[in-house]
Amino acid sequence: MSADKTSPVVSAPEPRGESVLQRTLSLVDMLDPSTFGDVVDSLGELYRVGIRVQDARGRTLADVKGSNGDFCGFINAIPEGRARSAAVLARVTEGPLTPTQGAQALPGVGPLGGVLLSVSCFSGLRYVVMPVEWDGDLLGRVVLGPYLPEELSDLPPSLAEVEGLDMTRARVLAGRVRRMSEQKVEKMLVHVAQVMAALLAAGQKSYLTGQLHLETMLETQRDLEKQNAQLMRLNQRLKEADRLKSSFLGTVSHELRTPLSSIIGYSEMLSEGLVGALNAEQMQFVRTITEKGNTLLKLISSILDMSQIESGKVRLAFEWVDVQELVESALTSVMPQAQRKGLTLNVRMPQVVQGRVVADREKLRQVVVNLLANAVKFTPGGGRVDVRLSEVGPQLELGGEGYRIEVEDTGVGIPEDQRERIFQSFYQVDDSPTREYGGAGLGLAIVKSYVEGHGGRVSLTSEVGRGSCFRVVLPQEPPLSGQGPAYIPPPVDTEPDRF
Ligand code: ADP
Repeated sequence: MSADKTSPVVSAPEPRGESVLQRTLSLVDMLDPSTFGDVVDSLGELYRVGIRVQDARGRTLADVKGSNGDFCGFINAIPEGRARSAAVLARVTEGPLTPTQGAQALPGVGPLGGVLLSVSCFSGLRYVVMPVEWDGDLLGRVVLGPYLPEELSDLPPSLAEVEGLDMTRARVLAGRVRRMSEQKVEKMLVHVAQVMAALLAAGQKSYLTGQLHLETMLETQRDLEKQNAQLMRLNQRLKEADRLKSSFLGTVSHELRTPLSSIIGYSEMLSEGLVGALNAEQMQFVRTITEKGNTLLKLISSILDMSQIESGKVRLAFEWVDVQELVESALTSVMPQAQRKGLTLNVRMPQVVQGRVVADREKLRQVVVNLLANAVKFTPGGGRVDVRLSEVGPQLELGGEGYRIEVEDTGVGIPEDQRERIFQSFYQVDDSPTREYGGAGLGLAIVKSYVEGHGGRVSLTSEVGRGSCFRVVLPQEPPLSGQGPAYIPPPVDTEPDRF
């Protein structure tokens, strides 16, 4: 005998607002089909009678065959017998749970008194149907049988009416069907009802716990989705604000640059005496105008560069570059200030003059200038700035051939918690209005963007009060799809023969 262990019908998650606590549970929800199937199996084996359990929608949860197989099979072999058997089965499995349409109420004396229905088959066998109720809800039914009623002395005339049925054989086979009294059936069903009640209580508890957990998770997920959508909207707004800021800064810087260039130009002409000799005091004033004008011009250029980077307008124009020459040229632009502060500038280049690399000359020069300018700016007088250029060779970080440029200083150093943030635009470790060092906090953001545009990496080590070392690792030839600014490959015909 085997129970019908169909896989459980999984209920769809509750639509929002209707909790599992507000809904009538079904047998399928509350009973684990495999455990329940085993239990009904063993009950069927114990009583040697068929037991079928269905939920309120007619879905079968367990179906154990009894000792009536041969007898029923014999009758069902004849079409008329089969049709009449099917009608009886339909009555017990689908018919109303009321004493109508051929069903009778079993008087009953025990706890099931008045709830059991008996349906007699034309073959003389009998079914008993027990409704399954839980918390006042009708969840399904248990159909017990068919069995041979104890009081039946011979097969009924209704069976003999089936044309072509061998009654003698039928009697022999009926003798193999379990014979039971009404009391016995009622006792069995009390047992079945108790077992089911125990399983339902446990099943309901674990189902409710599981579903409530699921509901809580779904609720949390819905909340998260809501927050996520809100964050996305905010993000969108921030991006738009950022775009407007970049475009505003770009326009303003552009408009400032032209008059500023004239101011610097005219002040240079004045200091060169092109419109007449100046006395010492006038000369000092004019030089200050030129110097401050240049500082302002650098600042405006940085803002313009950053706004172009942020708006995605920067395109790197790659060509074959001599890095040694590029580093030397960058050094000349910070030399005057380093000398003024009394800093020692040390340069270490590769012994062998190495082959050139592919880079955007101007952008890479600016990377080195920005790092050097910071090193000079943040190193107190008497300190040291070292610049090292490596030979071209395998670079672990890049997984290929490349080179390193390091700028190390003995300056103020950078606290550990600031080391990532200093690469954000406008971020400065000291952003107080009384800060000692000039600048707009854009130099490193530009460095990072340009280096990554070359397919390289920037990193740093630092110790507060002792100095910092910025390390740029660049590939010998940038990959075709680098991050950051767009890529324009170098013209093929300019490839040097020194490679
Ligand atoms: P700026 O130099 O214009 O302030 P940067 O983006 O170049 O902007 O640098 C951001 C910040 O990082 C600086 O304000 C400074 O606090 C810190 N920083 C950068 N380079 C150094 C350095 N070599 N030594 C100490 N601090 C540095």
